[in-house]
Amino acid sequence: MTDLTPPSARRKLGGSDIEVSALAWGHWRLAPGDVAANARLAHAALDTGIDFFDTADIYGFDGKGGFGTVEQAFGELLASEPGLRNRIVIATKGGIDPPKPYDSSPAYLDAAIDASLRRLGIDTIDLWQVHRPDILTHPHDIARTVERAHAAGRIRAFGVSNFTHAQIAALAACSTVPLLSTQPELSALRLDPFTNGESDQAMTLDLAILAWSPLAGGQLASPTDARATAVCKALDTVASEQGVSRTAAALSWLMAHPSRPIPIVGSQRPDRITESADALRVRWTRTNWYAVLVAARQEPLP
Ligand code: NAP
Repeated sequence: MTDLTPPSARRKLGGSDIEVSALAWGHWRLAPGDVAANARLAHAALDTGIDFFDTADIYGFDGKGGFGTVEQAFGELLASEPGLRNRIVIATKGGIDPPKPYDSSPAYLDAAIDASLRRLGIDTIDLWQVHRPDILTHPHDIARTVERAHAAGRIRAFGVSNFTHAQIAALAACSTVPLLSTQPELSALRLDPFTNGESDQAMTLDLAILAWSPLAGGQLASPTDARATAVCKALDTVASEQGVSRTAAALSWLMAHPSRPIPIVGSQRPDRITESADALRVRWTRTNWYAVLVAARQEPLP
């Protein structure tokens, strides 16, 4: 049955000594306010082996206010439970400052890193990411900002999100601190990184790929169009054969790729966070894997 090599449960981020789980848990949809409820979610993740948590300074922003509130809630959770911080690899992001467009200028990013540290109540961010490319900032300037933060111990490592492969190449070439990760939107319904050079570049540069919206924002749980329905059918074949949920199959489909994407689980339900770890049990044949790809592309392989 097995054809493709399954991923390991744990791995290093790029060439660093930072060890993380093969799946991450994301805070985009986390509701600030209830520390006990958020502790239950965090422990559901930890109990199932997920210790890599992804947040951002902008999470909680609702178009008017709320900037920083999800990081703040994460900080309250960490403060409520001594010892928790050291069990989690914390990834966050900065560089979007609404209503201003993207800003990666040194002054803004320096201040954004400090503000994230304050809200989280920690001394060092394990993985700090530039949230979106600001094409008005020279990559040298981003690199110098990152180098200063790294030298001061404010960040352990850095990554990017939503960068093109050309933007990644430019920034990686400018920085003396190794770029360790890239975070594109990636799912069985958003395949571009597998075909536009991003995953090839990640494998060449040893970048971890953190896949955002790995269930296409829930579309792979509850499809609403013909394409998503066809992809779900191909995932269901494997899920029912192997006794896992379709969503676990969807996450594992990504993880079977040789670039070894780390899906960022978006659910804010303990049972679904727990269930996501079943992705590590799924085994893919080439035939089954390509069947999902063909369904997503809506045309046969050439
Ligand atoms: P996702 O896993 O694609 O979607 C999560 C949504 O699917 C939730 O609303 C969840 O609802 C629903 N869902 C999951 N399983 C389900 C099931 N079995 N049945 C029905 N609904 C189900 O991920 P995402 O939340 O869009 O994104 C994941 C993470 O990626 C974020 O938390 C964030 O860390 C990151 N992200 C990054 C960027 C960026 O620009 N870098 C952008 C977006 C997201 P429940 O909560 O009710 O389970």
